[in-house]
Amino acid sequence: MNRGKVWLVGAGPGDPGLLTIRGARALAQCDTLVYDYLASPPIVNLAPPDCERIYVGKKAGAHTLTQDEITALLVRLGLAGKKVVRLKGGDVFVFARGGEEARALAEAGVPFEIVPGITSAIAAPAYAGIPVTHREHNTSFTIATGHEDPTKGYSSLDFAKLANRKATTIFLMAMGHLAAIVAKLREYGLEGDTPVGVVHEGTKPSQRVVTATLDTIVDEVERAGIGAPAIVVIGDVVREREHLRWFDAQPLFGKRVLVTRPAHQADDFAAQLWEAGAEPIVAPTIAVGPPDNPAAAREAVARVREYDWVAFTSRNGVDAFFDVLGELGRDARAFGDARIAAIGPKTGQALARRGIRVDLIPAEFVNEAIAAELLARTAAGDRVLVYRAQEARDVLPETLREQGRVVDVVGAYRTRPVDDPELRAKAERADIVTFTSASTVAGFVHNVADAAAVLAGRTVAVIGPVTAGAAGDAGIHVDVVAEEFTVDGLLRVLAERSTA
Ligand code: SAH
Repeated sequence: MNRGKVWLVGAGPGDPGLLTIRGARALAQCDTLVYDYLASPPIVNLAPPDCERIYVGKKAGAHTLTQDEITALLVRLGLAGKKVVRLKGGDVFVFARGGEEARALAEAGVPFEIVPGITSAIAAPAYAGIPVTHREHNTSFTIATGHEDPTKGYSSLDFAKLANRKATTIFLMAMGHLAAIVAKLREYGLEGDTPVGVVHEGTKPSQRVVTATLDTIVDEVERAGIGAPAIVVIGDVVREREHLRWFDAQPLFGKRVLVTRPAHQADDFAAQLWEAGAEPIVAPTIAVGPPDNPAAAREAVARVREYDWVAFTSRNGVDAFFDVLGELGRDARAFGDARIAAIGPKTGQALARRGIRVDLIPAEFVNEAIAAELLARTAAGDRVLVYRAQEARDVLPETLREQGRVVDVVGAYRTRPVDDPELRAKAERADIVTFTSASTVAGFVHNVADAAAVLAGRTVAVIGPVTAGAAGDAGIHVDVVAEEFTVDGLLRVLAERSTA
């Protein structure tokens, strides 16, 4: 019998970096994904593109299934031979009904695996700088549901035990009954000055934290206007936030950053933004495709050993070169003794991954710098292949030719604008808009004709002077130019600027 398998995977509390490696591996191989509203898009996107995605909701308004229907769906898919990932926020067994789903699978004879996740009960406090245990403050903590109304008499929580400031209580789903829970704890003798922390959307760029005391927390939460999803931590450990606050103290915390680079390069940048506490809005304005004259590219690759130097001015150029090389049934030996220059570290790394040790990376990652360095290392009559974007600037080949070098220029790929009818709305949501090449600017203007007006009042950050020039030509103001012309350099100046 062709039985499938179901992986119950904890997605972690929100920050996509907090998914486990085992969870990522399960996602990468599934053919069906069943997920709800707590799962963040970067995690859902780890499933293969042709994987069937079934949203089972659980947020008001959206089309959703009941728990029994979800459980039945998992059993049905498993019996039908599917490889199913059931993705849940936080951990699968912490107030998540994973136990019921697993039981139904076991009873139906569907094989399953449990991949625990980092529960919001500990992660949201951690990102707020609240350790759930601390030698000075407590020796235990309780994770409790705040879903039941403690005034209704049917609550099974033992408030006599929970009313102890040395034994921390962590409530999930408590925002609806916060006042009643506080009153109950007071009734059982917990002191009014006991510290309380509420962490809303913990580990996300939208994280908000309110700290107060048992007596004041209800008012403070109302004043701050925060609701679910939130974690409520009660006990002296909350005082540590004063010393340990870190995530929401980062310079880019909470900033919404528009990423316009091509989709295949956006993921890395987005991950770095998440780590800095920022919210990436991924909106590629360009895509990379074949050049107008692929035959010329193929010809140059086939004869690459005849050149003294080969210059790569982008990672995309390296990828395109090796794609053609593969099509020709060749490998890196094709370079022979030709020496190799890369415009910057990322391009260098792309070559290094293919076993090529680059002979030259200029100190500044622009065409002018690579031209000067190449001039210093070549003589008149030397042959140079410039392998680059079709629409790149001509400063490199022209500088070399002026000094008698014999230069072939190959347009290895072409960037073209991507149509995105939602780009304007995405830009309007952003605090910071990034451009990592002149063509990303062109792609933006292609979609948003009045770019200058839409970007007024937002921080515009660009990777280097050439991109800044392209923005200027389009009438777009530029606030931040990276000092090192890489994405890392761009993040660095943005962070410095936000602290200043
Ligand atoms: N299995 C999940 C909990 C699901 S119950 C876990 O282990 O985290 C839903 C409750 O979890 C919410 O009402 C809220 O109390 C809490 N929660 C989930 N994600 C959260 C987050 N990022 N920040 C704060 N609370 C969160």
